[in-house]
Amino acid sequence: IGYVSQADPAVGAAMKEELKRQQRNLEMIASENLVSPAVMAAMGSILTNKYAEGYPAKRYYGGCQYVDVVENLARDRACELFHAEYANVQPHSGAQANIAVYFALLNPGDTIMGMSLAEGGHLTHGSPVNISGKYFNFIPYGVDPETGHIDYDKLYETAVKEKPKMIVAGASAYPRTIDFKRFREICDACGAYLMVDMAHIAGLVAAGVHPNPVEWADIVTTTTHKTLRGPRGGLILCREEYAKAIDKAIFPGTQGGPLMHVIAGKAVCLGEALKPEFKEYGRKIVENAAALADGLMKRGVKLVSNGTDNHLMMVDLSGLELTGKELEHRLDSVYITANKNTVPNEQRSPFITSGLRLGTPAITTRGLNTADMDIIAECISLAIHDFESNEDKIRGMVTEICSRYPLYE
Ligand code: PLP
Repeated sequence: IGYVSQADPAVGAAMKEELKRQQRNLEMIASENLVSPAVMAAMGSILTNKYAEGYPAKRYYGGCQYVDVVENLARDRACELFHAEYANVQPHSGAQANIAVYFALLNPGDTIMGMSLAEGGHLTHGSPVNISGKYFNFIPYGVDPETGHIDYDKLYETAVKEKPKMIVAGASAYPRTIDFKRFREICDACGAYLMVDMAHIAGLVAAGVHPNPVEWADIVTTTTHKTLRGPRGGLILCREEYAKAIDKAIFPGTQGGPLMHVIAGKAVCLGEALKPEFKEYGRKIVENAAALADGLMKRGVKLVSNGTDNHLMMVDLSGLELTGKELEHRLDSVYITANKNTVPNEQRSPFITSGLRLGTPAITTRGLNTADMDIIAECISLAIHDFESNEDKIRGMVTEICSRYPLYE
């Protein structure tokens, strides 16, 4: 920030304010995290200067000998971490990774099944406003409205009837363990590829606290910036037989030159995730999420599926006057950052919603423990049940926690 402020005070000033916000607030957006100084340094490095279209040892530009080393390190570490046969580390984002997989294996108009956006899926899993929904015939599947768990029986019935060419498993707002074996069986029954988008849970998979989809899927995509705690970017893992098609679909299929500074950040992050400390980190994310869920439910807050198995939970406000939008706003004003989200059987618009998504990856990185989760549960419960008389009190409680866990000092 120092360099930027000197050269460009306007941008520098905004960056300083953002740093203060991150230090002052509890970051509870389930898809966010706080990267290490090493990951950040790799991203803000001289590697951004380099063009390197192509792949290691097969580039369209000279001078790639050192970026080849970086990209090979990232690929090898990704394969080692997730027990994959092949890795492409070039996707600029999770969305790019998903689109490239469709481009590699499908033709426009093909039928695919993906989890409905309203019930926890991602835009790139077939939403009508996304290229995935415009170019392919997506048929959504969802959760059982009673249990909040994926309705595998219904998914099976639809799959054998519709015979999709691919089924996409994975979600952005699903608090339960995903049964990849079950997905594989359903894909085998209807002759579909199984693609797993593990963006949200990649760090949990790396830490061994969520089953590894690589064992079951033809192709696995992920982002690197959520629970995996790396730079903003994407990654594709696959069996050797799909390697060529995936590489071609990323470059020259859907992208130009790779972002070598971000790939360096991915290599550093994957190196961090291979260390024993990362297993401990993953375990604590889940432990904190369970403690927060218990704390909330104990205080009468309803959660979709009555709890969580992973890093996130969905507060269910349906039936209450309070909306997801208003709760997000209330929490923001007391320094807790989270996002409104639709819940299964949503009755309100996606701009208003009856839900709030909460996640523990970033606050666990910051060092918070299960005792802190109980305090946060109290803060959120007060914000839901009696905000006006407790606003200052909640802000004080959050500020006290943040002061105990200094960030980027
Ligand atoms: N896949 C899932 C399951 C996600 O939750 C997200 C982002 O939230 C993405 C893909 C897209 O990632 P990106 O924002 O890097 O394009």
